[in-house]
Amino acid sequence: MADYDLAIIGGGLNGVSVARDAAGRGLRVILLEQGDLGGAASSATSRLIHGDLSVLERRGFFRVRRALAERDIWLRTAPHLVRPQRFVIPAHSDERPSWLLRSWLLLYDRLAPGMRLPVSETVDVTHHPVGNALKRPFGTAFEYSDCVVDDSRLVIANAVDAAERGADIRSGARCVRADRSDTWRLAVIDRGHRRVMTSLALANASGAWTASVSETVLRMPPPNLGADVMSQIIVRRLFDTDNVYVFQNDDGQLIFASPYQRDFTLIGTVRQAFRGDPAIVAMAAGQVAYLCDAANRYFRERIDPSDVVRTVSGANAIPAPGGKRAVRDSAMTFDRPRGKAPLLTLFGGDITTSRLRAERAVSRLTPFYPMSPRWTAKAPLPGGDFAWAQFDHEVDAARQRWRFLTEPQAQRLVAAYGSRIAAVLGDAKDRADLGPAFGPELTGAEVRYLMAREWARFPDDILWRRTKLGLTMPAADREALAAFMASSVCSPGSGLPGSYEPPGKL
Ligand SMILES: Cc1cc2nc3c(=O)[nH]c(=O)nc-3n(C[C@H](O)[C@H](O)[C@H](O)COP(=O)(O)OP(=O)(O)OC[C@H]3O[C@@H](n4cnc5c(N)ncnc54)[C@H](O)[C@@H]3O)c2cc1C
Repeated sequence: MADYDLAIIGGGLNGVSVARDAAGRGLRVILLEQGDLGGAASSATSRLIHGDLSVLERRGFFRVRRALAERDIWLRTAPHLVRPQRFVIPAHSDERPSWLLRSWLLLYDRLAPGMRLPVSETVDVTHHPVGNALKRPFGTAFEYSDCVVDDSRLVIANAVDAAERGADIRSGARCVRADRSDTWRLAVIDRGHRRVMTSLALANASGAWTASVSETVLRMPPPNLGADVMSQIIVRRLFDTDNVYVFQNDDGQLIFASPYQRDFTLIGTVRQAFRGDPAIVAMAAGQVAYLCDAANRYFRERIDPSDVVRTVSGANAIPAPGGKRAVRDSAMTFDRPRGKAPLLTLFGGDITTSRLRAERAVSRLTPFYPMSPRWTAKAPLPGGDFAWAQFDHEVDAARQRWRFLTEPQAQRLVAAYGSRIAAVLGDAKDRADLGPAFGPELTGAEVRYLMAREWARFPDDILWRRTKLGLTMPAADREALAAFMASSVCSPGSGLPGSYEPPGKL
């Protein structure tokens, strides 16, 4: 008998979503990630959970409706990670006519099932707070509802749920060879040790590495894929409201500017074709200038490339020009030659429809195993067992229980861990119970939790993916964090989250 029912190569959003779905349906699953979970494209996104207005503009009505239905599911299953926001498009006489924009937005409202979020409206920016940050002469803007997600924590939440349902999640484990017969035989370098394992089916969810994994690991003809790099910039906070601004650039591109980690603004996205190693992606200087110029057309406060605090880039697999056209939410192939073990290949796609993509992928395996029915549309992700409208109540409750928390600290912790905040803070009575501090926010207790329960191994895993506290942490604190992590022994060596006693129970 094979060691596993399903082995997955790649611990980005596609891989962990498949792992979660399959483990919850009773399959024996192993996920192999060569670096950190979500360490590639899945932590470099523009963080939008949306139907995508540009798809609506291209008349992709069915796709938009399906994505909006998924948005609704995310709000119910991950209310801590996915937050509704009001998006603002300033009307611009040089671009799409106002009547057209307004019509698209009315249709966008109508396509959203359930109508759970406030509908779109026209606002007079000369008297509305959203206008404070904008240059004159924008007189009118359109507001509509969509959502923003903490992308890298969404990856982790999926992985935690998969592990709790029995999946073996291995970061730092690179699949170097996969031989196919009636089962798969995989060779893996797992944190420096060579391991061999067998699996009844294999999923290649290696993102921008998909073609090279096919060619060099599976030794099969690679799918006809190209890759592009998408990039964003992070600058200081440019506006006080909690809106996401959508700007029509003069080349027709839509540029998003969203609040980021309280004190910053994330501006993107730009795209360029890519060849090379997806682990080494960088934003071109011309693209940084392009995004600054786009923002300067609209915001009163000017920015230039020297204001950029950080750039964020990720490579995504896309169908090669002339290759088979794949729509963004069905970027998946399934292959099962007679007598050979099944192979699923998932590439690209978006965050919004990742749950559905995983559900469909795992469903392709139903002829091969007994498995329980689809389940992820109704099951909350870890920490997500409350209604999204109750988010502020959860923050208040956290401040009642841990009285030393400031409002922003409680907000950050509830947004990251949801109802599992107690697993991080335990019975701590004051901040000193949480161990050493690294910067103004991070504590020893949180670091130990992330190492024991969320596969964090190195400072960057915490500073840029489990949290985004790298943006504000002083260099000396980073060094102290590195030393603390090196001396802590609570990292899960296996796929199961390690044992961890929260503060106050030591
Ligand atoms: C910049 C950017 C912005 C985006 N913005 C949005 C957005 O706003 N909204 C939206 O819905 N979607 C967005 N997307 C799309 C979405 O983020 C991606 O489709 C999704 O994250 C891709 O996930 P993935 O798992 O396929 O790839 P990845 O996250 O890249 O994961 C692939 C993983 O495979 C691992 N791997 C590769 N080879 C091996 C091997 N041999 N062994 C083990 N592991 C291996 C890699 O280390 C990597 O971690 C964006 C994408 C990018 C790049």
